[in-house]
Amino acid sequence: MSVSLPDLQHTQTMQHSLLSWYRVHGRHDLPWQHPRTPYRIWVSEIMLQQTQVQTVIPYFNNFIQRFPSIEHLANASLDEVLTLWSGLGYYARARHLHRAAKEIVEKLNGELPKQADLLKSLPGIGRSTAAAILAQAWDHPEAILDGNVKRVMCRLHRVAGPPNDKQIESTLWQLAESYTPKHEVAAYTQAIMDLGATLCRRTQPKCEICPLQSQCEAYIMNQTATFPHKMQRHARGRQTTSFLMVQDKENGIWLERRNGSGIWGGLFCFPEWDISESINDWTLAQFGARVASLEHWPRRLHRFTHFDLAYDPVKVTLGQKDLAPRSLPQYSGQWVPPEAHALPGGVATPIKQLIDELIEV
Ligand code: SF4
Repeated sequence: MSVSLPDLQHTQTMQHSLLSWYRVHGRHDLPWQHPRTPYRIWVSEIMLQQTQVQTVIPYFNNFIQRFPSIEHLANASLDEVLTLWSGLGYYARARHLHRAAKEIVEKLNGELPKQADLLKSLPGIGRSTAAAILAQAWDHPEAILDGNVKRVMCRLHRVAGPPNDKQIESTLWQLAESYTPKHEVAAYTQAIMDLGATLCRRTQPKCEICPLQSQCEAYIMNQTATFPHKMQRHARGRQTTSFLMVQDKENGIWLERRNGSGIWGGLFCFPEWDISESINDWTLAQFGARVASLEHWPRRLHRFTHFDLAYDPVKVTLGQKDLAPRSLPQYSGQWVPPEAHALPGGVATPIKQLIDELIEV
């Protein structure tokens, strides 16, 4: 589809209306705005990817208290980082943030780069995140295009088609660039994000108090419910697994760190059970103990963005240890005392819920 880009007068009117609204109604007391340092902006932008502001605030405060600078983050272990990220989800963000901090300290003198290309070369920083950092930390005139801005642009210009389609996205980038001012970029960037989050919401936008009402094609044509069009969606996948929740006689819980870059990579988790294997053979090999009792808990479902995970928890209580356990260092597992505060690293929310229930039983 073709969309006419706004002329200079149109963009200036929009910027003026938006900034005037922002000065009165925008969010000026977010923790990463005081002080507004490049490092704090970076951490906040990564946390805000796919997560709402109110959810992010307590995580941001804890994270910054523990890692007040890039050096602190670079020197921390991944376990410490994932522990503070536990519950926020999308754990690749935390792994990338940690790797990027190490790269910055090792190769870039400990300073976040001010060039978009260098920023984008760091793990976890894409085009919009790089622009948000440049705009908010240094007032560079860079356009952002997060989910909120996409929605606003789609409605202002009635952009037809799924916003995650490559061609549509390219049109939205052009619109976002047209509206981005040369000055007051930090304020404009925060303003457009605030407008998208508080007024131009996905459902029931508050058009009656919106400063962009007179310029908004969707509002003028009474089509705000039509735009943006639905996203292109891939068929939703489903995976199934079983978790072995092993407890020893002292009620310690066995957790293993997951390898790799998978969705829970680096997090501690219960071992997964290959149902073709005997649990008793596995516990004998792993712990030198037989199974004293087995309890199959009802199946549960956890929804990820692109697939559902159906998982069957199996509580395994070990009997007397009567054999020497096999040494399996690749598991990097450990016994964890039953107190929640003693968890050895990051734990995903469904696993934390199972641990809490095990402790309560
Ligand atoms: S008028 Fe309504 S649809 Fe248009 S930008 Fe404002 S809130 Fe969004």
